[in-house]
Amino acid sequence: MQLFVTVACVVLGLAVGSFLNVVIWRVPRHESIVAPPSHCPGCDALISPRDNVPVFSWLVLRGRCRNCGEPIPIRYPMVEVGCALLWGVIGYTFADSWALPAYLVLAAALLALSVIDLEHYLLPNRIVYPLAGAGLVLLGAAALAQGAGDSFVRAVLGGLAAFGMLLVLHLVSPRGMGFGDVKLAFVLGLYLGWLGWGEVLLGLFLGFFLGALIGVALIVTHLRSRKDHVPFGPFLAAGTLIAIVWGPAILSWYPQGR
Ligand SMILES: [Zn+2]
Repeated sequence: MQLFVTVACVVLGLAVGSFLNVVIWRVPRHESIVAPPSHCPGCDALISPRDNVPVFSWLVLRGRCRNCGEPIPIRYPMVEVGCALLWGVIGYTFADSWALPAYLVLAAALLALSVIDLEHYLLPNRIVYPLAGAGLVLLGAAALAQGAGDSFVRAVLGGLAAFGMLLVLHLVSPRGMGFGDVKLAFVLGLYLGWLGWGEVLLGLFLGFFLGALIGVALIVTHLRSRKDHVPFGPFLAAGTLIAIVWGPAILSWYPQGR
């Protein structure tokens, strides 16, 4: 059963990754994500279904538009593969849990938000608000299905705690911590809180740790200067996903456990 769920999630994840590419391109440009159908940003030609197969089409076309030859960034197949991998890991982890749909939605949304934040230094409300709503509804439904009211209450409290923690940092240093990060923190705390308070702390800690580590590495290697803005969303997202998948294992190494 676990193997079946994992494989199904990988296959679905490829298709969802293809949709995320549309979201990543259109949402920061304030375009609709449902209409018009996919077209080449170079020549406006509609992309036929055979050229829209995840990963495979990009390889067949060798990364160029069939009509005008405009390069198709490698980001497209990478997002599709990335989504398939994330969904596979989440499927494997939550194969026997009613919370599976909630965590699949989270993983897809965090991937899209991370790519958008890296390119535009922005965490669009058009993704963060629906994600918060979907998290509350899907985790609420999971709580009803498996009689886990206490997990749901802890999830909401975890969201509020994470929001409050980053809000304080935002007020201390508005340039260092954008309000977009504060709003995202509610969602991250919500999903981490469903699992436990240890996961809330671990996820946020890993986010800050990864951000500091890579921020320093970028400055040391002169890829960024101290004054450059480094988006924080992708690190928060990565820390949360690591804590969701490996949190219970990491926390059980800690003396006395939870
Ligand atoms: Zn084209």
